[in-house]
Amino acid sequence: MNIVLLGSPGVGKGTYAERISKIYNIPQISTGDMFREAIKNKTEIGLLAKTYYDKGNLVPDDVTIKIVEQRLKQDDCKNGFMFDGFPRTIAQADALSNIVVIDKVLNFTASEEIIISRLSGRRVCIECGAIFHIKNIPPKTEGVCDECNGKLIQRDDDKPDSIKKRLDVYKKQTEPLIEYYKEKGLLADIDANRPFEQVDEIIADARKALDE
Ligand code: AMP
Repeated sequence: MNIVLLGSPGVGKGTYAERISKIYNIPQISTGDMFREAIKNKTEIGLLAKTYYDKGNLVPDDVTIKIVEQRLKQDDCKNGFMFDGFPRTIAQADALSNIVVIDKVLNFTASEEIIISRLSGRRVCIECGAIFHIKNIPPKTEGVCDECNGKLIQRDDDKPDSIKKRLDVYKKQTEPLIEYYKEKGLLADIDANRPFEQVDEIIADARKALDE
């Protein structure tokens, strides 16, 4: 099954994607993670992406489409995949439709208040990328990853100025994809306006939509 996850930054896509991709045994493809890795390794794409990433802007479509195309050629995508954070523009969605058939699009929704609180409290492990939240998913020891003992940090783009910018960019450039996929009959809305303790219910709703 080829799945796209839509939803504002901060809605929890990364957390849901991790759970759902394990259930369906398909890889989670996060373009955000791919850019973070490239920036960390100072590759050519990383150096280019950094100027956009740091300001909360989208990396240009041609660069993004190219890294996705390369990723889809890997063996683990043969039986399906789950995109988390891609596509983010109509041009990316059009390009994707020329490469593969998408079976379902899950659109996670939550109020702006919840989204801002999730983004500003998020902490990530610099070693393994595991995601925590200072209130909702606190690590056992403050500032230390439960999985690998790595250091937990706040992403630069989770700081207040970047959050505002990313939400503006989402509204202008990514939200139109909701209508785009609705018109194609692929969209299922999933209510993510629930506290973290109810994440199992959010996943159950996502499974129901995928198994329909
Ligand atoms: P994320 O972790 O998905 O919130 O992505 C973090 C940042 O990576 C975004 O603010 C963009 O700068 C860049 N990025 C991730 N995915 C894309 C995409 N599909 N198109 C363009 N830029 C992206």
